[in-house]
Amino acid sequence: MKRIAVLTSGGDAPGMNAAIRAVVRAANYNHIEVYGAERGYAGLIEGELQMLSRRSVSDIIQRGGTILKTARSAEFTTYEGRKKAVEALSVRGIGGLVVIGGDGSLRGANELYNEFGVKTIGVPGTIDNDLGYTDRTIGFDTAVNTALSAINNLRDTMSSHDRVVIVQVMGRHCGSIALHAGLAGGAEVILVPEKPVDYDDVAAILNRGKAVGKTSGIVMLAEGAAPLDEVMRELKDRTGLSFRTTVLGYIQRGGSPTMEDRVLASRLAVRAVDLLRADKGGRVVGVKGGEVIDLPISEALQIPPRFDSDLFEQAKMLSL
Ligand code: ADP
Repeated sequence: MKRIAVLTSGGDAPGMNAAIRAVVRAANYNHIEVYGAERGYAGLIEGELQMLSRRSVSDIIQRGGTILKTARSAEFTTYEGRKKAVEALSVRGIGGLVVIGGDGSLRGANELYNEFGVKTIGVPGTIDNDLGYTDRTIGFDTAVNTALSAINNLRDTMSSHDRVVIVQVMGRHCGSIALHAGLAGGAEVILVPEKPVDYDDVAAILNRGKAVGKTSGIVMLAEGAAPLDEVMRELKDRTGLSFRTTVLGYIQRGGSPTMEDRVLASRLAVRAVDLLRADKGGRVVGVKGGEVIDLPISEALQIPPRFDSDLFEQAKMLSL
């Protein structure tokens, strides 16, 4: 394979640039040219591809977001749309495609492989850490650290004013960010979509704290666990404590990637290029027990996201 392409798709995640850089550098090292498609599958369909040189990916490893931009594409979910994407690749003699993105993007990569035989390799890039086949996704560590730094700031002001703050973080279906940031930030309560929310139980924890003179605290709320206003109302009624709310929102998506995310992105991208060099496609890369792994996309996407219930219970025990 002499020419490959790379794109970022779906929600952006810190570390995507580190992955793009590593794809380009690892490929060029092995005398393979790399084209970058802009705006994910949407740009690929429109033929928005440009050659990426070693130099063009200088000075991006530390940047959040993605220099290739990302998008969602309804057209790509149709057979005709995917056919256009394949034509854009074949007209340039591009034999392989590295797709950096979440669950949906990897499904798209699998379709290209199954329907047209395009050698696609998926690289997990999403802050949600919601892919069951890999222990970590690129961007998760940075997002957790961003949330953690917000908790640290909030704790200072909450303890000065005797207030409890409910911090809403991303995680519609997956409470990993809330769990990890909550544990690391010493949150009194962590609410995640994977576990039923019991307001009596939560109020009892806060009331127990109140009884021993604790009048401030942090409630970490993954957005999919329960609506923010409902949580505040239910807990106010049951505790009489003073509450404030903070929604971290898009702040969690940006920022300079942590060492963990940069190293992970680099390792996964190198494996992706290795697979293309070996003429393999329809596979995803990931990490298990610290080791880089690869497996068929179809197999990987059947593995449900795993919520770390043990860690959740430990966090609960340690917050008391
Ligand atoms: P993420 O990759 O972050 O999960 P999305 O689910 O929005 O984000 O997926 C990104 C893009 O991938 C979609 O806009 C669509 O073009 C493509 N995609 C998603 N699911 C599929 C699918 N089942 N088949 C083909 N393409 C898909």
